[in-house]
Amino acid sequence: MIGISACLGGVFCRYDGQAKTVEPLKELVQQGKAIMVCPEVLSGLPIPREPAELVGGDGFDVWQKKAKVLTITGVDVTEKYKQGARIAYEKLQAQKITQLITKENSPSCGRHFIYDGRFSGQSKQGVGVATAYFIQKGLSVLSDEEWLAQQEMTKK
Ligand code: SF4
Repeated sequence: MIGISACLGGVFCRYDGQAKTVEPLKELVQQGKAIMVCPEVLSGLPIPREPAELVGGDGFDVWQKKAKVLTITGVDVTEKYKQGARIAYEKLQAQKITQLITKENSPSCGRHFIYDGRFSGQSKQGVGVATAYFIQKGLSVLSDEEWLAQQEMTKK
């Protein structure tokens, strides 16, 4: 059993009310081989919600109180994002999940890239708030892009 970002499994939970479905991951959910978590929704944030980006660093910096998560109108949602990460981790723990596939570029779920904090559409290197928490707790996390590349490699 693995854990995946819920939007990858076809749940319409993104800030804009959309999903980012990756069909093979959705199939794993349907086969009972993956469970889905959306840290932002688990925090109690609504769908849709204002877009938010990390300012002052990445997810690891958020946990060290060096960076914040701000919405596009400047609302500080840092504590919400941290709360969602903790709840998601508890759900994963309950299922004894140690491997995760998360959505690249998300302020919560990004594995190697997040947006640059200026709402410019530009990415920068960094880890999302929930992904940083999962890594700190010892979970193994791949991005959706890495997982898809691995799947392609195994087909060859
Ligand atoms: S928090 Fe993660 S699971 Fe939820 S919509 Fe954003 S990327 Fe998808």
